[in-house]
Amino acid sequence: MSFDDEIWIDDEKEVCKIEKLNETKFATKFRVDPLSKQGIDDLLMLSDLNEYNCLHNIRVRYLKEQIYTQIGSPILVSINPYVFLPKIYNQETLAYYKVKLGQSQASLKTSTKQNEFQPHLFKIAQLQFDQLFESPTKELRICSMIISGESGSGKTESTKILLKYLAAESKSGLFRTIQQGQTIEQQIFASNPVLEAFGNAKTARNDNSSRFGKFMHLYFNADTKRVSTAKIDKYLLEKSRVVKISSQERNYHIFYQIIGAQIPELQLTSPSKYEYLKNGDLSYNRNEKQEFEETDICLDNLNFSPNEKKYIYHTLAGLLHLGNVKIEYDQVKSTLKLDNSLKIASELLGIQIQQLDDLICKVFTSVGKEIVTKNNNLENAQSARDTLAKHIYEKLFNWLIDKINQQLLNIKSLSFQNQQQPQLTKHMIGILDIFGFEIFTDLNGLHTNSFEQLNINFTNEKLQQHFNLQMFVTEQKEYDQESIKWQQIKFPDNKKIIDLIENSSVSIYKMLIDQTIVQNRGDKEFLSSLKQLPKDNLVLVSDLQTAEIEPRFDKKIHRVAKFDWFCLKHFAGAVAYNVAGFVEKNRDSINGEVFKILPNSTNPVLKEIWSNVSNDYQNMKLNNVVTKFQNSLKELLNLLNMSIPKFIRCIKPNNFKQPLTFEASEVRRQMTCAGLMEAIQIRKAGYEIRLKHIDFIKKYQHLVNKNFKNIKNIEEMFKLLGENQKIGQFLKEQQNQLSYQMGKTKIFMKQHFREF
Ligand code: ATP
Ligand code: MG
Repeated sequence: MSFDDEIWIDDEKEVCKIEKLNETKFATKFRVDPLSKQGIDDLLMLSDLNEYNCLHNIRVRYLKEQIYTQIGSPILVSINPYVFLPKIYNQETLAYYKVKLGQSQASLKTSTKQNEFQPHLFKIAQLQFDQLFESPTKELRICSMIISGESGSGKTESTKILLKYLAAESKSGLFRTIQQGQTIEQQIFASNPVLEAFGNAKTARNDNSSRFGKFMHLYFNADTKRVSTAKIDKYLLEKSRVVKISSQERNYHIFYQIIGAQIPELQLTSPSKYEYLKNGDLSYNRNEKQEFEETDICLDNLNFSPNEKKYIYHTLAGLLHLGNVKIEYDQVKSTLKLDNSLKIASELLGIQIQQLDDLICKVFTSVGKEIVTKNNNLENAQSARDTLAKHIYEKLFNWLIDKINQQLLNIKSLSFQNQQQPQLTKHMIGILDIFGFEIFTDLNGLHTNSFEQLNINFTNEKLQQHFNLQMFVTEQKEYDQESIKWQQIKFPDNKKIIDLIENSSVSIYKMLIDQTIVQNRGDKEFLSSLKQLPKDNLVLVSDLQTAEIEPRFDKKIHRVAKFDWFCLKHFAGAVAYNVAGFVEKNRDSINGEVFKILPNSTNPVLKEIWSNVSNDYQNMKLNNVVTKFQNSLKELLNLLNMSIPKFIRCIKPNNFKQPLTFEASEVRRQMTCAGLMEAIQIRKAGYEIRLKHIDFIKKYQHLVNKNFKNIKNIEEMFKLLGENQKIGQFLKEQQNQLSYQMGKTKIFMKQHFREF
């Protein structure tokens, strides 16, 4: 069956049906589970867990506007409705989960009770919140919600819904209030529009695509059980977007917002007039003026001063004018054309024209004690101008997040980096909203992926590995340790492709870093060094033979018949990467003069930002993009590995952003890529509830009318339980069905182990 097949359950014939163009086949070997036609809450409750039934079940629910379905308690599948469904997110629904589920959890912690509540992001949030305070802890206790899925599948919207739930205003007024009357919750909400304005943009797949990853830390006070501080970690802002966008895409929303705001001193007219915007989608309209007002108010709420806001806008407008600065070349040297764009850019960025010229048209290198000046040719000067714009934007973004963090962490001092670590509580909920797996193609379907996509796709490989390990390995290990009988399940392992990319001795990243640290090495050398790598998941296009690539890689990739590409077989699909620009992007270097000139800018925001930036480009080995990114990814995974996770798998139901339209083949492809079918198998084979012997005895002591202190061990407990005729009979039946098993230290029970 290919991914293009449409899969149905035929209601009349009660068989699974596959439609391909005009041809219809019936998959009679799969049994239709009548429950799937009802659309039940939890896929694990289906008696026949084939993918037809799972898909059908999800579709039936989706078409009833029930966009969430659970797979046991750790996984929530969320299908993007592409339309706002007020009923499922209103105050009443929120209160229902907060009050009812919260109370039921407090009184009786069984998953039987949990099952009475419809799957929902609110439910996931409440369960994690309860886990956070389940037992007193001196160690850091982290509950994480890991949201993953392709671009446009609904990760960021899900994050906002979770935040809305966790930071929902309480009428009891228990919140810590901070400066100027803003509560921490209000500040968390205020940070979102700001982050989206500066970090999101329209792409071909999503009108509001996050071009950076974020991990939101919410620290709770153990007494009040309210958020006390928060912090945002960010990953890899796509800064190349600032200077280059394709025709279906747009630059960061904030640029259009400041144009819409019509602030006279910024001297902006319309997006079509700016090099950095005019090649993008100009027909796409949002209410930019109103969005600007929202961003502006949120900056107020985050305690940015009027002066700071003013110079943030100056900086942004300065970048747009900088993009229009023309460079003239007389075969010897390039110079900046003295026109209005240059004058305005210089004014808004607070950098003299001569200094801009130094930054863009010249290169200064030190030879011994002397500084030697070289003139840039036209191409290098243009690229220096764009590099300057990208770096300024990136540093501005980093500075904004640092400032927001100061607010959320309630740190008064401005130079927060030099401060001692803030006091954080031991109870943390982490919400990860990170860029989904990406394959960029042009209008002809040719792959157009670069360095940025490799890093994004690598992140997704690592998260998938974390998911696999959590779901499969940990589960298997625990059953083995406890001597529990169960079927071994083969699980998809993406270690090979991860090693191919990041292994410290031979890997794509290693080769890239090697070329990055040696001056004058470039993409050609990088590509040729890839020849040393194992070829299981890698094809170099120069080696490419149709017959060789066909079985393992997507056919479309053949069409990239050039010599500067390599293709990788990722867990979610094959991707061709163009090596052009890899080494330079990884070097990420900039004219060293910026570290002298920008700290003296008369634009106070730029001055402040660059005063705190060290010239770390000298040590390429430590400061190339990949090494820094790998380090932050390592930190993230360390936190996730320490956490009690819930996985939210977002799925895009169609490629046309159509409301409530379900294409089974699309959904199936994403479920397969996300390892959900295997996860279903393992959860079904597994036991949802596990209690230590002592906890089991404590919990069920009332059934045997004896204090747990007087019960010697678990064997005696079962003997006592067996003495009660009703319970004994029940236990016997359940044991025959393997609904529970006694492990060495724990009792393992399936969800429906009832209480009497
Ligand atoms: P990216 O990886 O590109 O950032 P994403 O997974 O974060 O994508 P979102 O931006 O969250 O995707 O969602 C894309 C769009 O889908 C939203 O702008 C919204 O229109 C719609 N959408 C997503 N989730 C919901 C929801 N729960 N209710 C209504 N609409 C939704
Ligand atoms: Mg997003």
